[in-house]
Amino acid sequence: FKAIPKDWPVIGEHIVYDTSSSIDPEEHPLDGGILIKTLLLSPDPSVRGRMRDPSVKSYAPAFTLGEPIESRGVSVVLRSETEHFKEGDYVVGMIPWASYNVFPSHAKLIAINNENRLPWSYYIGLLGMPGQTAYYGLNKIVNIKEGEKLFVSAASGAVGSVVVQLAKLRGAQVIASAGSDEKIAFLKEIGVDRAVNYKTEDLDQALKEFGELDAYWDGVGGPTLDIALANMKDFGVVAICGLISSYNDGENQYGVKNISAILTKRLRVQGFIVGDLVEAEGGTHAFQEEVGPLVVEGKIKFKEHYTKGIENAGEALLGVLKGDNFGKSVIIVADK
Ligand code: NDP
Repeated sequence: FKAIPKDWPVIGEHIVYDTSSSIDPEEHPLDGGILIKTLLLSPDPSVRGRMRDPSVKSYAPAFTLGEPIESRGVSVVLRSETEHFKEGDYVVGMIPWASYNVFPSHAKLIAINNENRLPWSYYIGLLGMPGQTAYYGLNKIVNIKEGEKLFVSAASGAVGSVVVQLAKLRGAQVIASAGSDEKIAFLKEIGVDRAVNYKTEDLDQALKEFGELDAYWDGVGGPTLDIALANMKDFGVVAICGLISSYNDGENQYGVKNISAILTKRLRVQGFIVGDLVEAEGGTHAFQEEVGPLVVEGKIKFKEHYTKGIENAGEALLGVLKGDNFGKSVIIVADK
């Protein structure tokens, strides 16, 4: 991470690929820790949020200039000098964007047993942070009930597609938006009652036809949030999961005009971060118990979008922020 972007990050200016500090996997001293090889990285939208001035407070620390960017990822342990991890363990956690990393003995990494032989990428997607966001957000923030009308934006993506499917399983009526016809076709496949391409269709009209919303799952903010606010039922719930439409807006204007609807419709608007919800639950047991079997039985559909090579990690992140990804974006750094 070389410089703080004012708006859109530029590869070569803010994000640089630097091989000079690479670790020799056979020789590097471990000091009682582990050496891991990066397999997969997760260019989550929140990575952009950490590219900021450290004086600006947020839920995750700002990146340090000159240090690698980090994100969730999957790595394999190549060498270990601690009983906590053994050679060959697959681990998931916050991984610096480098081919090899050395972690101390008590690293905040979780070894995955993957007894059902699911794709490793699921541990940074469907069964990882995005899937957990969908599950805990829907249960704890929206508290969706059978027959309720829910609108989901960024609905074909990592979080949104799981929100849609869990809400359908709970008997909700779901209207969902995404930005391409290909994404709309997928939304129909996963059972939404109405799919809207917000780039080519009139979202406001589609919501009006669908009927007043009990709940809105906001993955994008901006004009979509505005239109959703205008279509809420009195006492409805707005779950603010993400505001991706403004992450590269230097002024952070968010562009929301219909704030008065929060008062006039007496809405409950709540922002949330998945980590807090998981902590309050004391772990992800409930998620694993309910969603794990659905995934193993193939009852949840999930798209993934692959970028090969760590040197293309910056491009993958920009792709997510622009909407070029179709499904959970995964950077494949190494096969094994
Ligand atoms: P996705 O896989 O959904 O990818 C992001 C998508 O956002 C793009 O594919 C694009 O889809 C859409 N998008 C990008 N720019 C815009 C725009 N200007 N207007 C409308 N849509 C846009 O990403 P995730 O599922 O990982 O994340 C979705 C949202 O959830 C993000 O805002 C993220 O920050 C948030 N999030 C929040 C968490 C929390 O704990 N609160 C945890 C995880 C994610 P399209 O083509 O449809 O526009």
